[in-house]
Amino acid sequence: NPLNSAHYLLSAHNARQLPPDTGVEVAFAGRSNAGKSSALNALAGHNALARVSKTPGRTQQLVFFQVQPERYMVDLPGYGYAKVPHELQAHWQAFLDQYFRSREALRGLVVVMDIRHPLKDYDRQMLGYAVQRGLPAHALLTKADKLGRGQQANTLQAVRKELFSAFGDTVSVQTFSGESKQGVEEARKVVADWLGL
Ligand code: GDP
Repeated sequence: NPLNSAHYLLSAHNARQLPPDTGVEVAFAGRSNAGKSSALNALAGHNALARVSKTPGRTQQLVFFQVQPERYMVDLPGYGYAKVPHELQAHWQAFLDQYFRSREALRGLVVVMDIRHPLKDYDRQMLGYAVQRGLPAHALLTKADKLGRGQQANTLQAVRKELFSAFGDTVSVQTFSGESKQGVEEARKVVADWLGL
C-alpha cells in the first residue's frame, strides 16, 4: 500500500501555516459525517489518521498527513460539523478559496459522499473549485455497504451521469466502504497516481 506511511504532520489555520508550496498534495472534502475520516483511515490502511481532524477547534483548519516527504493528503474540514461564528466562516471561505485558486502543490480532489445522499450543494461547490482550476476530481460514494449491489449500481450510474453533465470527464466516481473496504484499492490507485507514488 503506497499510502501506508501516512501520518499526521500539521494543521494550518491560515496561509502562513501551510507547508512550503513545493510538494505534491491531494485534498479530501466531504460533508460532516459523510465518512471522510473512515475513508482516510481505510486508504492509509491504519486507524491512526483522521481522528485529529475532528478535535473541536480543528474544524477550521487544513490537516496535512504526510505520506512521504513532500507528498501529502490534506483533510479539509467537513462542512456542517460545528456552528462557527460568521467572521470565522468568512475567513475560512477566503482561505479555502485562496488555497484552491493558488496552491501549486494541489494535484487533485477527492470528494467523499454518503452513497445515500450524494451531490449536495457543498459537494458540488468543492467539485466546482477543482474543475475551475483544471484539476481532476474523484468522488467516493461511501457507506456502500448500507445498500444492496443493485442499488449501489443504480446510484453509481446516476451520479456518474450527473457528474459528467455538470463537470465533464475530469471527474470520476466509484463506490466505496470504509467498513467493508470495498473500493479501497481502486481509490488508493487514484490517490497514489496523483501523488506520483
Ligand atoms: P466524517 O465526519 O466524514 O469524517 O465521518 P466518519 O468517518 O467519522 O463517519 C461518520 C459515521 O459514519 C461514523 O459513525 C462511521 O462509523 C460511519 N461510517 C463511515 N464510513 C462508513 C462505511 O463505509 N460504512 C458504514 N456502514 N458506516 C460508515
